[in-house]
Amino acid sequence: MRTFLAASLIALLTSAAVAELPAGYWPIEKTQPILNTTLRLELDPDLSHLTEAELRAVDELLAAGVVIHELYEKQRHEQARDAKLALAELHQKGGQSVATQNLLDLFYLSKGPIATTLDNQRLAFVPVDAEYPGKNIYPAGLQRDEIDAFLGAHPAQAGELLGLRSVVRRASAAYIAADLARLAEFPEIDALHIGLRARLESLSKDASAFYAIPYALAYAAELRQVRQHLNAAADHIAMEAPDFAAYLRNRGRDLLSGDYESGDASWVTGNFGNLNIQIGSYETYDDSLLGVKATYAASILARDEEKSRALIDALAGLQAIENSLPYDHARQVSSRIPVGVYNIIADFGQSRGGNTATILPNNADFTRKYGRTILLRYNIMANPAIFANKKKSFDAVVDPCCKDHLTSGGGFNRTLWHEVGHYLGVAKTADGRELSEALADTADLIEEMKSDLVSLYAIPALQSSGFHTDDTARAHYADGIRRTLQSVKPRPSQAYQTMQLMQFNFYMEYGLLEPGAESGLLVINYDRYHETVTQLLRQVLQLQYAGDYERAQEFVARWSYWDDKLHGDIAERMNSAGGYRRTLIRYSALNE
Ligand SMILES: [Zn+2]
Repeated sequence: MRTFLAASLIALLTSAAVAELPAGYWPIEKTQPILNTTLRLELDPDLSHLTEAELRAVDELLAAGVVIHELYEKQRHEQARDAKLALAELHQKGGQSVATQNLLDLFYLSKGPIATTLDNQRLAFVPVDAEYPGKNIYPAGLQRDEIDAFLGAHPAQAGELLGLRSVVRRASAAYIAADLARLAEFPEIDALHIGLRARLESLSKDASAFYAIPYALAYAAELRQVRQHLNAAADHIAMEAPDFAAYLRNRGRDLLSGDYESGDASWVTGNFGNLNIQIGSYETYDDSLLGVKATYAASILARDEEKSRALIDALAGLQAIENSLPYDHARQVSSRIPVGVYNIIADFGQSRGGNTATILPNNADFTRKYGRTILLRYNIMANPAIFANKKKSFDAVVDPCCKDHLTSGGGFNRTLWHEVGHYLGVAKTADGRELSEALADTADLIEEMKSDLVSLYAIPALQSSGFHTDDTARAHYADGIRRTLQSVKPRPSQAYQTMQLMQFNFYMEYGLLEPGAESGLLVINYDRYHETVTQLLRQVLQLQYAGDYERAQEFVARWSYWDDKLHGDIAERMNSAGGYRRTLIRYSALNE
């Protein structure tokens, strides 16, 4: 009897393990190598300092976050939801095999049905359409030349089509009718968007033309739910944290109006108690077509009051750093920067992953009027497993002279001053345009490079002010180099990786980095550091101030080269060091 059971059990297990997956689903041989190079973490921050009301608010915020996450997946791929449901069903029917569990993990890691492979391609791992550069925010398959030609012929439509929070559609009768029907179904959207109904009704139905509708209408059903959860959270904490409650109510309405000014103002200037939440659509990294559309994110955060106070003191000398920047247009920067050290309770949508810090809002006018808030994510920044992994790759390519210079604290300070760097330098072009508008798809890359460089540029001043000792300054410098090392050739659409590669190339050409005489590995010439960073920062600030898109493109082309012999060799060493290539983060608060 026992033998029979065991044999049938083995047969069952074997058949489940080798069961053919339906066409289009990646087998274990393709998913396992990616998951083997993935570091898995679970964030479980101490929330014992939260009040009962705050804990009840957290439950509502988590519920809002879950909706935001699904919305984000939908923005990135039209079939995301169907693919996720089909995969969950396949996993149950197939006896929860390793193959389908891997696919579920890959879906979670990828935030959708498209994975980034080890050689940095974006491929579907379940049966869905290939990814488009404009994701699901532009018409399926739209290419740059078609939309450029249309905008050239219809310049008056640029404001509408290039909006930060609008979905672009082909002007077919079916789409227009569906949008008008949705507007009728959500009267709050109709009321908040004066003129939208008339504009939709007057569109001429021509599928070779384009029109745009606000996210507020396109995602009306999801945003109504999010608002309900934000209002419920506000009810819980209105008595003890009225500023936070006011922010949540403002933001709930912002999501429906598409105008974030009320929420951003109350977010940046309020006193919130132990909680914070970043919620809405701000960052444009997912728009690989035009680089102008924001995708949704939510981060629910618990404040570390003691660490936050220490940082605020450190930011006292900010104006002096602004004044010293290598450009002639220094401006008045706010001395009161709302910086906080937080532990992540849970992240959703675009902000889910190993993000170390955030600075928002991006809008130059809001920034001028209210400032920006800096959220440092301590339980990522100080995570020992993440640091150990970074050090492994660093050690594999850096000469023995400099290996010990990398510390976890150096990474924290480099990131802190990167975020502060967004506060400094050029805010608008010489002729008053927003940088994102003037520099289009190079804007994010150049802004991120500026912030990286300001972080490094400030080090001597931070030594003079007593913020840095010689050792912590060196660790900050060393992390600036670590940041530029690439384990894979970046795709042009990867703003961060591309600007890191550009810094690396500049540092090599200017002798900040050079191969060690004996080891052949990278030596950091600290005596060349400040001058080299100053040179590159000067060019970047000039580009932003000029707002000249062609010059920006030339600059990117000049410095983003990849030489298989040099960069390929470094990448190979980093990859064979056995470190993880990506991070999959789960959250205890979500009980997944
Ligand atoms: Zn940044």
